[in-house]
Amino acid sequence: MKEKRETFQKAVILRYLQKTTTHPTAETIYQEIKRKLPQLSRATVYRNLKRLKEEGRILELTFADRASRFDGNPLPHFHFHCQKCGSIVDLFAEEKQCALCLKNIAPGPIWDYRLELYGLCPKCQKDIKDKFNQGGKNG
Ligand code: ZN
Ligand code: MN
Repeated sequence: MKEKRETFQKAVILRYLQKTTTHPTAETIYQEIKRKLPQLSRATVYRNLKRLKEEGRILELTFADRASRFDGNPLPHFHFHCQKCGSIVDLFAEEKQCALCLKNIAPGPIWDYRLELYGLCPKCQKDIKDKFNQGGKNG
């Protein structure tokens, strides 16, 4: 019975990650799934994330200075991080080309790669622009 529940909770966590593109933290995953499974514990979420990662079904994006983010797409791909709002989006458009390019400059075979781009998302860029324009009007 306990084992059955474990399997079910793990499947729910995996499905949640596969459906979202936000790259949530473990805490967000816990808060979101708990709304539907009130008996879910933080320990269960952390344990299952670890297992899913070990099984190669999800990615953990680790950072030196903040909480890991989790990704339901285990295939290597690129990310764009907004340094203002913290959003992370997948980049796929030029990925094949980039991977090929990296292959050309690498000294040996590539088994895995991770490229993280940091900047401003379109929304934050617009916010800053709007603020600037507003300031101009008032001053
Ligand atoms: Zn942003
Ligand atoms: Mn991703």
